[in-house]
Amino acid sequence: MSNKIPVGILGATGIVGQRFVQMLEHHPWFEVAWMAASDRSEGRAYGEAARWRLKTAIPDRVGKMVVSPAKPEGAPKVIFAALDASIAAEMEPAFAAAGCIVVSNSSIETQAWRKKSGGFVVTNPNCSAIGLVLALAPLDQQFGLETVMAVTMQAVSGAGYPGVASLDILGNVIPYIAKEEEKMEEETLKLLGKLNGAGIVPGSFTMSAQCNRVAVEDGHTESVSVKMKKKAKSEEIIAAWNSYTAEPQKLKLPSAPAQPVVYLEASDRPQPRFDVEHGAGMTTTVGRLRPCKVLDWKFTVLSHNTIRGAAGAALLNAELLKAQGYLG
Ligand code: NAP
Repeated sequence: MSNKIPVGILGATGIVGQRFVQMLEHHPWFEVAWMAASDRSEGRAYGEAARWRLKTAIPDRVGKMVVSPAKPEGAPKVIFAALDASIAAEMEPAFAAAGCIVVSNSSIETQAWRKKSGGFVVTNPNCSAIGLVLALAPLDQQFGLETVMAVTMQAVSGAGYPGVASLDILGNVIPYIAKEEEKMEEETLKLLGKLNGAGIVPGSFTMSAQCNRVAVEDGHTESVSVKMKKKAKSEEIIAAWNSYTAEPQKLKLPSAPAQPVVYLEASDRPQPRFDVEHGAGMTTTVGRLRPCKVLDWKFTVLSHNTIRGAAGAALLNAELLKAQGYLG
């Protein structure tokens, strides 16, 4: 008998759901005990229902599991959710209202059911904001941010499966991703803000984002320019990135990379093809630091959208919940 915590995956057959399955295969604390998806998949063996798109094989045990109806009855207490956003808004609160702890990739407004059921939802930030914030946090802590401008080149896997049609994206760049720029701007300020007891006071810097979809499989690349309150030398900025650690490193959480931000010295890196798997996809790579003639400095950021930006971030959230005693 395993003494791991049984967990469920809602939306287990999708791009992010598959990453959950992959990342949970050898997890020291959690074990997949239940999975659900749409009517299309319900009642089928996971290995048949999922259009598996990862380079590692479907874990044997999980491949044979039957996909359950997406209802809280019979589901374990801890649920990883990777549902289409429109369905998540309705389904995740229903699971939380039934007492589940839902670790989600979608946004949520309020948690009115919390006191009554004991269940709650913990959500990830936007996948482009996550990578950007990891690169900005060390700079904000040490030098204070004043202005941030970010232009993204986002992978097609960010649009789920089957996602963007090949005729739309091959040999092309799409300069629009619905609601992405608004989310990046709002969530970056929120993530670098402060808690004041009543809520979040957003960061005080100004922020502008432009988002593009490009023909890359995995990995969101961002061209970033920043203005900072304190003058800094390039070696001080690079040291701030390379030495940055936070709560997940302090607590030695299983999915926390030893180094969450790594500066790459080569003049033409980071590149998604070569650098997206750094730290098992949990490390944000930064490169090409150079002076900016409009703001102070400019650089390139790369982060794995379905790992650091989705399943890996949710797993880290669940590990933090366990380490802080929220999983009972
Ligand atoms: P996806 O590949 O389209 O997968 C969607 C999942 O939802 C599938 O398992 C699908 O099941 C399930 N589903 C659809 N309708 C359902 C229903 N009525 N009831 C129950 N399950 C249903 O999408 P994804 O890329 O994995 O994204 C999942 C969520 O993560 C989204 O909210 C997305 O915004 C967010 N996210 C994605 C990324 C990324 O890089 N892809 C990054 C950050 C956040 P079937 O297979 O049975 O249809």
